[in-house]
Amino acid sequence: MSNTAAKSSNSASHSILSVAVSLPVFRLFDYLPPTGVCTDNLIPGVRLEVPFGKTKIIAYLIELKEESQLEPDKLKPALRIVDAAPLLHGYDLQLLHWASRYYHHPLGEVFKAAFPANLRKGMSAALPEAKQSAYKLTALGELIDLDTLSRSPKQSRLILAFRQHYPGILNTSDLRALDKNWRAAVTSLIGKCLLEKCASEAVAAREISESDVAEIEQPENNNRNSILLNNQQQTAVATVTAALNQFAVFLLNGITGSGKTEVYLHLIQEALSRDRQVLVLVPEINLTPQLEQRFSQRFPGKICLFHSGLTANQRQNAWVNIQQGVRKILIGTRSALFTPMHNIGLIILDEEHDTSFKQQEGFRFSARDTAIMRGKISGIPVLLGSATPSLESLYNARQQRYHELVLSERAGAATPPMLRLLDIRNKKLDSGLSAPLLAEIGKTLAQHEQVLLFLNRRGFAPTLICHGCGWVARCRSCDANLVIHSRDRCLRCHHCGKEQAIPASCPACAAKELVPAGLGTERIEQTLHGLFPGTRLVRLDRDSTRQKGSLEKYLEEINRGEAELILGTQMLAKGHHFPNVTLVAIIDVDSGLFGIDYRSSERLAQLIVQISGRAGRAAKPGQVILQTRHPDHPLLKTLISNGYRQFANSILAERQAANLPPFSYQAVLRAQASKPETVLAFLQNVMALLNLKKYPHLLMLGPVSAPMEKRAGAYRYQVLFQSNNRAHLQKILDEMAGNIDSLATVKKVRWSLDVDPVDLF
Ligand code: ADP
Ligand code: ZN
Ligand code: ZN
Repeated sequence: MSNTAAKSSNSASHSILSVAVSLPVFRLFDYLPPTGVCTDNLIPGVRLEVPFGKTKIIAYLIELKEESQLEPDKLKPALRIVDAAPLLHGYDLQLLHWASRYYHHPLGEVFKAAFPANLRKGMSAALPEAKQSAYKLTALGELIDLDTLSRSPKQSRLILAFRQHYPGILNTSDLRALDKNWRAAVTSLIGKCLLEKCASEAVAAREISESDVAEIEQPENNNRNSILLNNQQQTAVATVTAALNQFAVFLLNGITGSGKTEVYLHLIQEALSRDRQVLVLVPEINLTPQLEQRFSQRFPGKICLFHSGLTANQRQNAWVNIQQGVRKILIGTRSALFTPMHNIGLIILDEEHDTSFKQQEGFRFSARDTAIMRGKISGIPVLLGSATPSLESLYNARQQRYHELVLSERAGAATPPMLRLLDIRNKKLDSGLSAPLLAEIGKTLAQHEQVLLFLNRRGFAPTLICHGCGWVARCRSCDANLVIHSRDRCLRCHHCGKEQAIPASCPACAAKELVPAGLGTERIEQTLHGLFPGTRLVRLDRDSTRQKGSLEKYLEEINRGEAELILGTQMLAKGHHFPNVTLVAIIDVDSGLFGIDYRSSERLAQLIVQISGRAGRAAKPGQVILQTRHPDHPLLKTLISNGYRQFANSILAERQAANLPPFSYQAVLRAQASKPETVLAFLQNVMALLNLKKYPHLLMLGPVSAPMEKRAGAYRYQVLFQSNNRAHLQKILDEMAGNIDSLATVKKVRWSLDVDPVDLF
């Protein structure tokens, strides 16, 4: 384009729309405005519908520019502008641009992560008219003694929620937030003449201005916050409160049961009283319905949930209510991180060490690190909480980049559990359970206290083996053994999901003696049923909770004290509060001791401490038994004698000596294809693109095969990049990501770039 065109600088000259589309391509696309639309009011961030190839798709306006590389006659007009004003604010756009640059992921795909599915398809973001039903207490409901409802705790909780909530009216979404299965309880309460349906105008009357809300809620909140914070909790609340108007990162390092959640609740109250919204990120909401309940009891009518268990409409509803500031608190998993907020004032990230905050496919972002960037861009504090902080966060606290707040004691009357190593060398085992452990289980059950047993392997046994020739059942598509599932009577691969029948005889030698080898939760369940007949056992793992609603059902059985023995996997480690559990046992702690990843000892220690934290959370003290054949292993000894903090310090020293993160920065380039040669050729082409002389301190390892070389039929290789200088690492990734698409070999592989990987698998 000629200079004369560029010089005429009226707004009409900024008439090219540069947009991002949700496709795995790095480039942006140019369009003209829709016919007859003036670009004056077009602000970056709005959604547009554009023609794309033979179809039309939703695109996001990135900028208005004067000229395009395309010939003018190649430029097509956009079809329509979806949003009159952008749904994302300037801060949100800044964050998405940062994430796209930092994680080297196409901008359009990053935008996709910020919108719920309905909005990605171009649906309107207007709030639906309030057509919800609403309910209120009858006169009888106001007066009834809750003890008469003691046999239906759900109903009694609902009545309480109505009483606590001004002015005593709750609509369907409030009720849903309190209890997913609210409808049955409400129906019974109506049957008992304790509740009645009321007009939704009454609900509208509740949508009063914010200043009114603060006034009305004061007295009521005082009694809800009736728990008196201890000194350490008070200090934590006061310190973060003092920083509510500026960016700062706080690490709330509090042992399990020390009252971290209570600190969050108080801080949320502080933020709300300043008319700000709060974003709360948790690892997995479905696993901790109690947390959700605690929040919604404290802040009824103010909360939205956002996670993958919701329907598309529910997610859209939550997103819009938060975006428009109708609701004040968003509790969600990592996918909630980018939800725009009307007036965000605080970000809380619970269980910050949890690796589920890192997305492991597609847009591989860390919700923790990106939340910190969001806090920085928005000028607000970010609070990370954990009983077992990640080594990165502990190191950042040591470097004074984070401000550490410590809760060193259990709240209320609870005391920390006693950890004990149980040496099982040369001991007779019954499905992995030693006699001393079984004796403790028996004793605990006799005292009517609950026992929690942990084994990180689901299924009946990790493999099937031939007693005659040693043949092992392997997956044909993966470098992995098939796992025996007794209930479904099949062999299943836990990596690609393939299933096959359990063979009657050995495929190699025809012998009939095929035996299960190793331990799985199903097998232990069977053994425990035999040893403790009549005892109510609940097994919690991905298989037993596959059916919708079954996890909630089991958790309720545990909380009501009906389940005496609780057996499960990882799921048990997630922040549950089971007050009557006094014995926790880790059946096979050794399986975590010799992992290939340098992070495996950190993970194991976190797991041990978190599982242990389920013991003795209320008045009764708890004990934890770890069965091991390595009672002298330094990791176990340090952890048990000196605690997580000292353990972390010694691992940090090892990492420093080996120059591993957090002392250096890593990225992994992964690729896979149906033939190993194809993958290797591609990775070598990529490495040839790089001008390594410019980066003398960059370490490049590979290509090497992934720890599991073959998975679901694909061969997997990777290159690890490591540098002590984050900027150098970023530069080399820029250089690489910008050129990969031009390689001829790129079409034959699937590749990805993982910045700050949490595992090298
Ligand atoms: P964490 O989140 O650190 O595991 P919680 O906040 O869940 O701890 O607290 C554990 C238990 O202690 C909960 O039942 C909570 O109500 C109670 N609790 C918390 N703070 C106090 C306090 N200051 N006084 C008495 N009980 C408390
Ligand atoms: Zn055989
Ligand atoms: Zn497989």
